[in-house]
Amino acid sequence: MKHTVVLIPGDGIGPEVADATRRILTTAGAEIAWIERYAGVAALDRGADTVLPEDTMHAILEHGVALKGPCTTPIGGGFSSINVALRKKLNLYGAVRPVRSLEGVRTRYDDVDLIVVRENTEGLYAGIENVITEGVITSLKVATEEACRRISRFGFEYARSRGRRRVTVFHKANIMKLSDGLFLRCAHEEHERNYSDLEYEEQIIDAGCMRIVQDPSRFDVILCENLYGDVISDLCAGLVGGLGVTPGANFGDEHAVFEAVHGSAPDIAGQDLANPLALLMSGVMMLRHLAETRSDEACTVVADRIRDAYNACLLRGERTRDLGGELGTRGFADAVCRELDRMPVPA
Ligand code: ATP
Repeated sequence: MKHTVVLIPGDGIGPEVADATRRILTTAGAEIAWIERYAGVAALDRGADTVLPEDTMHAILEHGVALKGPCTTPIGGGFSSINVALRKKLNLYGAVRPVRSLEGVRTRYDDVDLIVVRENTEGLYAGIENVITEGVITSLKVATEEACRRISRFGFEYARSRGRRRVTVFHKANIMKLSDGLFLRCAHEEHERNYSDLEYEEQIIDAGCMRIVQDPSRFDVILCENLYGDVISDLCAGLVGGLGVTPGANFGDEHAVFEAVHGSAPDIAGQDLANPLALLMSGVMMLRHLAETRSDEACTVVADRIRDAYNACLLRGERTRDLGGELGTRGFADAVCRELDRMPVPA
């Protein structure tokens, strides 16, 4: 069964890690027909008049699944985030960022296994900012009951479907009594009504952050609104080896876009320095999604093979520089492909 997937290389380190990921998926035997489309600076460079061209949107709408590299967001001015625009336009309201210790990557912790579930469409990411008068700015945090309930249900469902036991909601409802208060109330009510088989707890985000670094193993699924989810994801990435090893997925009811947590990393772009693992692991999440939604067991087999191959490489010390190794982006992809070639072909 061949699946059509839209590949958006992105910009910065995006094209390098996307190329490595595609090569590894192909070597592993993933039955995927790739449709390449562009977004961000890469789209402008190819003559598009917008950073999110219509044909890119159409391709995702038509095929339902995309694997996406990062797109640069200018700081303090310029165009708005393409990543955020894509999530809003496709209504990809649930972001999932699994954070797991990797056997071949030594960090302070060796038992991290948690999932950050982030609301993806509102909060301060609504991007509604106003100049009230010179030197006075307001930035509006949006919380709607519909989105708060939807992400709560999504988080509980995801937790349940993955055999997780506890959902912790991070909030700051002591200060943002109305907006975070609404988020908290919706999560609490959804839990009471439909998910009481799962353990449920609430943590004020500052204390929650402290507890994460003290003992990440006590967390299972962390549910939060948009901005908290963004920050917590990077914090948690730091527990297991950094942004080079933290994958992600954005889900809506109709579409799914898989992308690493990291940004376009302009400081290392084009130098064969980026770790492709985060996007590769996002690709593995995508294969598991295809297996589930299209009942294609072959995708699970390929996903497992890729996971085993990169773990074997990491354990042998074949790593990129962010993980203390010597390999470049291409070198690491070569190593994973060699490992896949050595592995027995499944019957
Ligand atoms: P954004 O605002 O788009 O989320 P960011 O500010 O979080 O971006 P990143 O682009 O994610 O920034 O990069 C943060 C740091 O992590 C940079 O120093 C970058 O070099 C490093 N980094 C990010 N991704 C990778 C990767 N795949 N491999 C190695 N280093 C990376």
